[in-house]
Amino acid sequence: MSSKFDVVVIGAGPAGYVAAIRVAQHGLSVACIDAWVTDQGEPSFGGTCLNAGCIPSKALLESSELYHRAKVDFGKHGIGIRELSLDLAAMQARKEGIVRQLCTGIGALFKANGITGLSGRGRLLPENKVEYSPHDGESELIEAEHVILATGSEPVELPAVPFNGTTVVDSAGALEFDAVPERLGVIGAGVIGLELGSVWQRLGADVTILEAMDQFLFMADEQIAREAQRQFKRQGLDIRLGARVRALETTGSGVRLAYEDTHGGHDISVDRVVVAVGRKPCTEGLLDPLCGVAVDERGFIDVDNVCRTTAGNVWAIGDVVRGPMLAHKGSEEGVMVADLIAGEVASMDYDIIPSVIYTSPEIAWVGKTEAELKAGGTAFKTGTFNFAASGRAQAMDQGAGLVKVISCVETDQILGVHIVGPLAGELIGEAVVAMEFQASTEDLQRTIHGHPTLTEAVHEAALSVDKRAIHAINH
Ligand code: FAD
Ligand code: AMP
Repeated sequence: MSSKFDVVVIGAGPAGYVAAIRVAQHGLSVACIDAWVTDQGEPSFGGTCLNAGCIPSKALLESSELYHRAKVDFGKHGIGIRELSLDLAAMQARKEGIVRQLCTGIGALFKANGITGLSGRGRLLPENKVEYSPHDGESELIEAEHVILATGSEPVELPAVPFNGTTVVDSAGALEFDAVPERLGVIGAGVIGLELGSVWQRLGADVTILEAMDQFLFMADEQIAREAQRQFKRQGLDIRLGARVRALETTGSGVRLAYEDTHGGHDISVDRVVVAVGRKPCTEGLLDPLCGVAVDERGFIDVDNVCRTTAGNVWAIGDVVRGPMLAHKGSEEGVMVADLIAGEVASMDYDIIPSVIYTSPEIAWVGKTEAELKAGGTAFKTGTFNFAASGRAQAMDQGAGLVKVISCVETDQILGVHIVGPLAGELIGEAVVAMEFQASTEDLQRTIHGHPTLTEAVHEAALSVDKRAIHAINH
């Protein structure tokens, strides 16, 4: 192996592997070092996203949704099932198959792009030298013109509720259960807590989610969060807000979680607990004290608006730097940094990063919420459209939820789009493109949408901003 590359990337998650591919597309030589090994001890590219995050969670969300719909909804379609059964081992094997296929795919993409993929740990030394320690073998020094740090994040542990891999698990553990727990406790009603809680509830668990904050999904638009909360309650998800978990006690049949809210102390008894209270950046063992890369007080690598660190020609992207911990945010940073290294002009608009929660109904948004615009003193107008009036949503038996479009009073430019409803995560793409091109509400209004599609709800919400919705009464 050559010990000198134009670029060395440390971390092959969606930030690092995308950066490596883009660097290679520029004709530069690149090595990508990644430490991930599977439970079977096999190296696996793809990071948290492919191995233990986005992809396995979506695989289980899909399977559990199908099971739940077969159980609860098929009757409405006139479809009878005499005996519905659940083969969790087969469900998990399907998930594992998808993960393996996609992770192997990253290795194939590396090969096709001439990228040197290295399994083991990377450590940044002074003067852009990287110490590469293979899982088995001697460490070696690699020199690089540029280094991109993309080491991602790991789950935060609650001191009062330490992980034990059996009754108290993190998100990765919750993707691996080999039996449906009768009673499942989830700590944290963020994106991960809601998604994993939904998976096991659909498969039959009695799920209680304890959330320290008083407001449900504080980062989402309030109207959308309220509608989502109403739907989750109808489904039987027990979400307790303002509930701060204080202690854990192991009992004969499981664990007891003690929490406090404004009414005092309470406890719940469950078989298993998923702790989903956030993630923290991974920098342990990554930075030699003399490498010149600064880390902020929360442990994130310090970067400017184009992901330059405090050390020359060292960049950092993805979950290990500020901003939302989302795969597509890190990937886009990877593209931007690779383009800058290649001498191109590049930047990215952090205000137009979509967020998606893959519950049922899905929740998705991009841009500003009403609360953010009010706080910033921007005059805005809103339009909404309920999926209840969408023919496609009704045909799908998914008429709950709404689309909301928020625009600037002065310029008509779209400032935010918020959706709770069927395939919201797909629908938000139209809003992202519109906002990327600084579209006005009128642009969306005059765009022809296929019929009958869910996208008509986005169209109608845009029309509703000017009280011109066709399939709703404009107030
Ligand atoms: P990672 O994916 O964490 O990859 C970093 C890689 O670097 C890892 O392979 C790690 O082993 C390696 N590494 C660390 N240190 C070293 C070192 N010193 N040397 C070599 N290698 C090292 N995001 C979404 O956008 N959509 C979703 O639907 C979604 N669902 C999620 C569901 C779950 C359950 C979880 C946990 C996360 C989810 N996320 C989702 C978040 C998403 O997974 C992360 O934002 C994303 O993986 C971050 O990418 P990254 O490349 O920065 O880091
Ligand atoms: P996220 O950061 O989106 O993964 O969400 C994590 C959630 O966990 C946040 O909504 C936090 O408010 C919540 N949380 C953090 N600590 C606790 C705790 N001790 N008890 C209950 N919820 C918590």
